[in-house]
Amino acid sequence: MKRAVYPGSFDPVTYGHIDIIKRAAEIFDCLEVSVLNNKGKTPLFSVDERVSIIKEVTKDMPNVTVGSYDGLLVDYCRKNDAGVIIRGLRAITDFEYELQLAQTNRKLGENVDTIFLTTSLEYAYLSSSTVKEVASFGGDISKFVPPFIADMIYKKYGTRSEERINEQ
Ligand code: ADP
Repeated sequence: MKRAVYPGSFDPVTYGHIDIIKRAAEIFDCLEVSVLNNKGKTPLFSVDERVSIIKEVTKDMPNVTVGSYDGLLVDYCRKNDAGVIIRGLRAITDFEYELQLAQTNRKLGENVDTIFLTTSLEYAYLSSSTVKEVASFGGDISKFVPPFIADMIYKKYGTRSEERINEQ
């Protein structure tokens, strides 16, 4: 059984992340999407909210499970018996940080490798922070996240509701 972990903040999960999840789930027998509980950042969605959002978007993917972690990623991989970390690469600007992270994890856990999936071009520009910024001004985020997530984001910001998007 080839098991992989796809870690990230996923605050919130976007179509870009979902594309990586689908593609990784086709390559590996089991994929665990894991929400990082980063105590240094104030997220829009709590870890529990993010986990349940991802559970909803992956409910038709039988080999995908969802969890969270707050310690070292390599320890989490070891506990989950996963030898591969999946990361998505959007642009060259992601590369330097991701390479450093992958090399650090390789030093910390010699049995864990990082595999990068390059983003599908239509999502190359997409990031959770852009989605939040657009939503905070009431902009249209329907091309970035599934409708139920868009609604949850607008509710957090008190900007606009799904009904209003449908009316447009
Ligand atoms: P982090 O805070 O760990 O960067 P993110 O939730 O922003 O977490 O992203 C998790 C992973 O998904 C990272 O590897 C990131 O590069 C990747 N990713 C983010 N957005 C996209 C996208 N639009 N297409 C492909 N990969 C993406």
